[in-house]
Amino acid sequence: MTAIASNLQAVNHVIAQALRAAHRRGGEVDLLAVSKAFPATAVREAYQAGQNAFGESYLQEALDKIWALRDLPLQWHFIGPIQSNKTRVIAEYFSWAHSVDRLKIAERLSAQRPPNLPPLNVCIQVNVSGEDSKSGVSPERLAELAQSVARLPRLRLRGLMAIPAPVAGCAAQRLSFARLRELMRGLSEQGLALDTLSMGMSHDIEAAVLEGATIVRVGTAIFGER
Ligand SMILES: *Cc1c(COP(=O)(O)O)cnc(C)c1O
Repeated sequence: MTAIASNLQAVNHVIAQALRAAHRRGGEVDLLAVSKAFPATAVREAYQAGQNAFGESYLQEALDKIWALRDLPLQWHFIGPIQSNKTRVIAEYFSWAHSVDRLKIAERLSAQRPPNLPPLNVCIQVNVSGEDSKSGVSPERLAELAQSVARLPRLRLRGLMAIPAPVAGCAAQRLSFARLRELMRGLSEQGLALDTLSMGMSHDIEAAVLEGATIVRVGTAIFGER
């Protein structure tokens, strides 16, 4: 077994354990393998070990891999910051965008989504740690943005995403994830049909799954240090 295959097995095991601990059903969390900074050969290896959803943060690098791996039925998720001049390529080549945090970006993605493709799945990135440096909409402005994004014809608003400031210990990590879950519940009460909490990375998978993550975005624990 390759290192990537055995890492994938270990990560899937952590997810399964956390699901059991949370009394959630198996299969309720999708693993997104974050392949940024790793070559197409590493993605191919992960695919051969059973993984088919991959996350990328840098557009040019992602496009090179998408092209090199076009023979495989992979699902690509964009998870990095989105500038206006990148929306067209994201709308054309990705199934998901996790990092929408402004209406202008969402409008461009919707307008530029090719008519022959299904609507682009999007998550709104929320700044749950309240740091100025982090991207993401503030919790106070989330509801207004979500209602607007949900009305865009070529997007399908699926839920929320966060990258909390790193903290040590599962209990502390769970606080930000619980906050994101509560924000999503609030939106559901306002009538939005959401099913996705994109939260949890290599160092906090367990905390995220315990708080209801449905997608965990894992790079280092699968591919190694960048
Ligand atoms: C890089 C990245 C990840 C993966 O982080 P690891 O700590 O390597 O698991 C997850 N989400 C986003 C948005 C990232 O940029």
